[in-house]
Amino acid sequence: MNDKQILSHMNELIDQITHHNYNYYSLDTPTISDAEWDKLYDELMNLEKISGTVLSNSPTKRVGGDILTGFKKHTHKINLYSLNKCTNFKELEEWVNDIKEKVSDAKFSLEHKYDGLTISLTYKNGKLLTAATRGNGSIGENVTEQVKTIKTVPLKIDFEGELIVQGEGIMSLSNLKKYNKTATDPLKNARNAVAGAIRNLDPKVTATRNLDVIVYTISYIEGKNFVSQQEEYEFLKQNRFLVAKEFNLYSDFKSIKKQVELIGKNKGELDILTDGVVLKLNDIAERTDLGYTAKFPRWAIAYKFAAEELSTKLKDVVWQVGRTGKITPIAILEPVELAGATVRRATLNNYGDILRKQIKTHSYVFVRRSNEVIPEILGVARLTPQSTDIQKPIHCPSCGSILVEDGANLFCRNFYDCEEQIKDRITHFASRDAMNIEGLSGKTVEAMYEKLRVKSVSDLYQLTKEELLKLEGFKDKKATKIIKAIEISKTPEFNKFIYSLGISGIGTKASKDLAKKFKNLNNLMFATKEELLSLHDVGTIMADNIIEFFKNPVSDWLINDLKFSGIVIKEEEETGHSKALWGKKIVLTGTLENFGRKELTEMLEKMGANVTSTVSKNTDFIVAGENAGSKLTKAKELNVKVYTEKEFIEKLKELKSK
Ligand SMILES: [Zn+2]
Repeated sequence: MNDKQILSHMNELIDQITHHNYNYYSLDTPTISDAEWDKLYDELMNLEKISGTVLSNSPTKRVGGDILTGFKKHTHKINLYSLNKCTNFKELEEWVNDIKEKVSDAKFSLEHKYDGLTISLTYKNGKLLTAATRGNGSIGENVTEQVKTIKTVPLKIDFEGELIVQGEGIMSLSNLKKYNKTATDPLKNARNAVAGAIRNLDPKVTATRNLDVIVYTISYIEGKNFVSQQEEYEFLKQNRFLVAKEFNLYSDFKSIKKQVELIGKNKGELDILTDGVVLKLNDIAERTDLGYTAKFPRWAIAYKFAAEELSTKLKDVVWQVGRTGKITPIAILEPVELAGATVRRATLNNYGDILRKQIKTHSYVFVRRSNEVIPEILGVARLTPQSTDIQKPIHCPSCGSILVEDGANLFCRNFYDCEEQIKDRITHFASRDAMNIEGLSGKTVEAMYEKLRVKSVSDLYQLTKEELLKLEGFKDKKATKIIKAIEISKTPEFNKFIYSLGISGIGTKASKDLAKKFKNLNNLMFATKEELLSLHDVGTIMADNIIEFFKNPVSDWLINDLKFSGIVIKEEEETGHSKALWGKKIVLTGTLENFGRKELTEMLEKMGANVTSTVSKNTDFIVAGENAGSKLTKAKELNVKVYTEKEFIEKLKELKSK
C-alpha cells in the first residue's frame, strides 16, 4: 500500500470502529464480537505505526496522551446558561401554567437531571475540535485530551458544519463501585469522581475512570434550524451522541407530575446519580419568543429532588460494642435533612474505614442516605483548622478491657462480662429470626439487665411475672404477654437455636445449612473443621468461630443452663416429615384454599422437595389452585403432571403414612 492507500484504509477502519463503539458503549447492543473488534483495532494501530500518523479522530487516542502542564482557558462561543430551579410541585405547576398561558398547545420535554460535570463539545468538519468545562458559563477550561478518552463521546460525526453541544459528564455507580474495588485511593462519590477525572492533567487517569457524557442540548449549529427539542434529540442520536434513553412529550401538569414522581421513586435503582428532572418547552420558535432573564432561559426549569447526599460537619465519633465484641465507630453529625429524614448519626464501619477515608473530627464529610439504608459516610468534603485525627480507642467503651485488633476491626474480648455485649446478645437471642420472644425489645432488655439482674440469656427463663411488674411501664397485661412469649420460645427449631447463640459471622442462612447438615446440637458441638468446611457457604473464619465458640467452657455452661431452663431443641430429624419428596421439583400456582403459599413451600422443602417458580420439562409436578394461569397452561403443554389442591392433599396423606 502507498501512503494514500494507507490513509484511506485508516479512515475506513476509524469509521467501522466508531460505528461499533457507538453500538457497544452508547446503545449497549454490540454488533460484533470482542475478538472482531480487537482485530480492527489492532489493524488500525499497526497502520498508525507504519505510517507514523495518528489521525485526530482515531479511537486509539482514547487511552490518553501526554500529561499536560496546565489547563488552557476556553471561551465559550455561546454562553452556557444555568437553569431556573424549583423544589416543590406548587412552583412547578405555576411555571407550567405560566408558559401555557403564553404559548398555546405548549408541549414539554422531560429529562433526568444527571449529577456530574457539565461539558461543552465543539465539532467542525465532522471531528471533535474541543471539549471544555462550563466554568463560569462564559469561560471554562479546555479538557479536550481528557474528554477524548471517554468512549461515549464521538470523535467523528456525520454532520460537517460547526456544532456545539452540551452534555453532562457522569460516572455510573456500577463503574464507581468497580473502580473502588481495586483502587488504593477510593473515590468518595460519583459526582466528585467525574470532576476529578476530567479536571486531571493526566488524560490516562481520565481513561481509567470509564466516564460517559450524556448530551442533552445543542448550543449552536451552523446552517440548520430545528423546529423542536424532539428534532434536536433525533439529530443528536443520528450523530452517535449518547442521549437519554427515552424522549417523551407532555402537555398537562397532571401527567408531568405523575412522571416526575415516578422518576423520583425509581431514581435509587438507576445506575446514574440523578438529582432531579429538567422540563423544557419543546417548540424552539416559541422559546425564542420567551427569551431569557438575566440568569436563565424562561422556557426551561429544573425540578430538584430532596437530597440524598450532602456534606455536613462531623462533630465527634463514639464507639459502640456489639454482641460479638466488635467495636463500631459511630459519627455524630451536625443534623442534616437527607431524603426526607433528619440524619444525626452515621456509621463508619470500623477503624480501618476511618483511616482509609481519612476522616477527622471537626471536618465536613459527605453523608449518603437512600431509602431504608443506614446513613453512611463516604469521605471528607473539606477539613477545618480544628480538624483532628480520630484516636484509635485502647479500652472497651463499655467494660474498659484492652481492645484487640483483628484485621480492620477492634474487638473487646471480655465476651462474658462486658455489659453492652451481654445486652446486645440477649436482644439478639430474643429477636424474630432467633428465639422469637415477642415484645422483648432492646429497651426492655436494658431494664431487665439493670433492675432484674438478667445477665445471661438463660436468666430470661427464671423471670417471674412479679419481677416484671417492678419494671417501669409494665402492667399485668404486658408482663403476662412476655412471660408467655418466653414460655413459647422454649421449643426452638434447631436452625433458630444456632442463630440465637450469636456466633460471630453465623447468620440465618448459615444457621439453616448447619442445622440441615448436623441435625442436632451434639453433632454440631463436636464437628471437625473439615466437616464444617464441607458446607458450601462456610469458610475458614466461620468454621474457626464455631469451633472456638463450642471450645469455650462458658458456652458449655450456657447451653447446659438453657437445657436446665427447659429448652428443648426441635432437632432436624424430629420435624415429623419423611423425605418422601426428596429432590422433586415442584411448582405451586393459583390460589390455594387450605395452605398459605409460604407455609406449603416450607413444608414441602422439609420433605426434601425443591419448590421453584417456573415450569420446565424438569418439573416433576405442579399443584394448581383456583385461577391458575400461564403456569398451568405451560405444564399441560410440557406434559407435566398436574394435581388439584384436593388431589394433592390426598397424596400428602399417603406420603406421610409411609
Ligand atoms: Zn467490653
